Amino acid sequence: RARIEREKAGRHNAQARLADAMEGSTEGIVLTDAAGRIVAVNRRAAELLPGVPLGPGDDWDRAAALDAPDAQTAAALRRAPPAAAEFKLADGRWLRVSRSPARDGGAVAILSDVTGLKAKEAALAETNRRFAAALDNMAQGLALFDAEDRLLVANRRALTLLRLPPEAAAPGAAWRELTRAVMRAAGHPEAEAAALAHDRIRFAARRTAGTRLRKTPDGQVVALSFSPTAGGGFVATWQDVTERERAQARIAHLARHDGLTGLPNRSLLRERLAAALDSGRPFALHCLDLDRFRGVNDGYGTPAGDRVLAAVAERLRALAGSHDLPARLSGDEFALLQADAGPAEAERFAAGLAEALAEPHDLDGDALVVRAHAGFALAPADGAAADALLRHAGLAAERAKAEKDAWPRRFHPDMDAAQRAHRSLEAELRRALAADALELHYQPQVDTVAGRVSGLEALLRWRHPVRGWISPAEFVPVAEQSGLIVPLGEWALRRAARDASGWPGRVRVAVNVSPLQFRSAGLGDAVLGALRDAELPAGRLELEITESALLEDGDAVRSVLHRLRAGGVRVAMDDFGTGFSSLATLRSFPFDKIKIDQSFVRVPADGVPQADAIVRAVAGLAAALGMRCTAEGVETEAQLGRLAAAGCGEVQGYLFGRPRPAGEVPGLIARIEAGFAVDA
Ligand code: C2E
Ligand code: MG
Ligand code: MG
Repeated sequence: RARIEREKAGRHNAQARLADAMEGSTEGIVLTDAAGRIVAVNRRAAELLPGVPLGPGDDWDRAAALDAPDAQTAAALRRAPPAAAEFKLADGRWLRVSRSPARDGGAVAILSDVTGLKAKEAALAETNRRFAAALDNMAQGLALFDAEDRLLVANRRALTLLRLPPEAAAPGAAWRELTRAVMRAAGHPEAEAAALAHDRIRFAARRTAGTRLRKTPDGQVVALSFSPTAGGGFVATWQDVTERERAQARIAHLARHDGLTGLPNRSLLRERLAAALDSGRPFALHCLDLDRFRGVNDGYGTPAGDRVLAAVAERLRALAGSHDLPARLSGDEFALLQADAGPAEAERFAAGLAEALAEPHDLDGDALVVRAHAGFALAPADGAAADALLRHAGLAAERAKAEKDAWPRRFHPDMDAAQRAHRSLEAELRRALAADALELHYQPQVDTVAGRVSGLEALLRWRHPVRGWISPAEFVPVAEQSGLIVPLGEWALRRAARDASGWPGRVRVAVNVSPLQFRSAGLGDAVLGALRDAELPAGRLELEITESALLEDGDAVRSVLHRLRAGGVRVAMDDFGTGFSSLATLRSFPFDKIKIDQSFVRVPADGVPQADAIVRAVAGLAAALGMRCTAEGVETEAQLGRLAAAGCGEVQGYLFGRPRPAGEVPGLIARIEAGFAVDA
């Protein structure tokens, strides 16, 4: 009995321990027998399935299926162990039921509350879904490869961008095959496709970050970027950069071309010049400049000016060979690099250029010849650097302009020396003006009929500290080119007016005015201001202008002259007979005086009859138009006699006196007039 009692106690203990274990479990536990009837159940099970009959002897299949939300779950719960099913309870919790067989043919069902787990799973699934959506909506194509170069994942954009069918990018696909398929799909010719694929395969193998650009035969530009990943694989991203590349190309084009004519600009020309110099082959650089282009803009309007520039560009293009480079350097400056040209070819081209430029332009029905001057330099003989060549060709063109020659010039080193001299002269002249180191000398103009000095012409004098006297014929053009003529001319006006205010009231002063002075707005005021300050009556001032003043901006110049003339200032036409259309100029403004140029006075013997005829005609013309007439450059009595015979009664020249300093003027006047008195 004692043994029986011990065994009983032992069994009881085991049962008690089992019961404790079941009750202490956080899982619900249900034990069933071979017939599926419940033999034991813990409290947790009852908690998890409230309302389900889980008493000993109840049928598990029926009981468990009672709370299942649908037939499928119910069926899963009824399946013979081992089996597992999950379902959502009416109160929203998730339950997992797993059944495993027991040794006696029955089963153990473990019921777990997996609500928390389920929430985590759902969150993860949502994250994955979002990630997939993001991948598929990326503007870039993206593919992830493992350490063996096998595809892990690729987004949809990668397929469309690379023109691949979905099966080509299945997970596991090799980079090697994939990249070959890409090159084929893009339509690259076979050899190119092979080379491209080879490059990409090697690039990926290096596992370094970097980018490759590729342009497809149909013009798409794709950028491929690699970056290695931590696990030994890499990420490849593709981007369509066609538009970006196009915009960059456009910007690059704009930076190196002229917007109006589409021609290459100075910076592109310089690059090409440098390259041509590097190549060591001979070539020519032509430069050309349009004359008075401002006049076209002012007279016909800017759109017409633009049309002229475009037409000049067109003519240059037509002349250019396939290896030549025409360019627009600035406003009305053009150039052309003539490839593989020696002196003979360059001369020939220059001749063709001059001819093409001489063709008139059609401006609103007007056939207008826009004159141009051109010059060229040869490389490497005339310059070893792009800038030197440009400067030299420009100098040659300037020389053609200075010599009023439409024919292109070749650069000569003398031009360079001349320009340097010109520059230093300009600087010295500027200093001389600032230091008041210039003077005016006066040359009498004599009325031979009345025997009196009617006026004196003011002529600039510059005593250079080193070079001595420099002629205005030399420095006035320098002043004109640098703009210095405006302050210089103003100074001369003021000084002449002041000097003349001390002379007898009947004696006038004549001051030369450069055409360039008319371009600055202040000339009218400068003249009137000089008169006012010197208290000189306007009628005692005479302005000498040359024909060229009226050629450019004729209307503007005339309006200034009319204003001054209305104020009493007299206007003389200087150097008459040396211009292009003196008669037309004469008609365009009511001059007070014509000055016959020296070239009709001092003539070689065989030219005398014609010169006399011209002087007679001009004197007659002046009389008929109510103008006075003065002959310049009279050095001898014989010349004086001929002029008198031809009807020209007023003269100026060394015969009566060279230009002298202001202080000598009263004496000069007295001496000349005394001479007439003696003669009489
Ligand atoms: P221009 O106005 O025709 O002046 C006449 C020039 O002929 C002066 O030369 C004068 O000295 C010279 N001349 C006068 N009589 C004789 C003569 O009998 N024989 C010879 N061989 N020459 C004679 P200059 O002073 O050298 O002036 C040259 C030119 O410089 C002037 O020609 C004028 O165009 C310009 N010029 C002079 N002063 C000024 C000025 O203040 N302003 C401007 N804009 N130009 C000036
Ligand atoms: Mg003069
Ligand atoms: Mg003159």
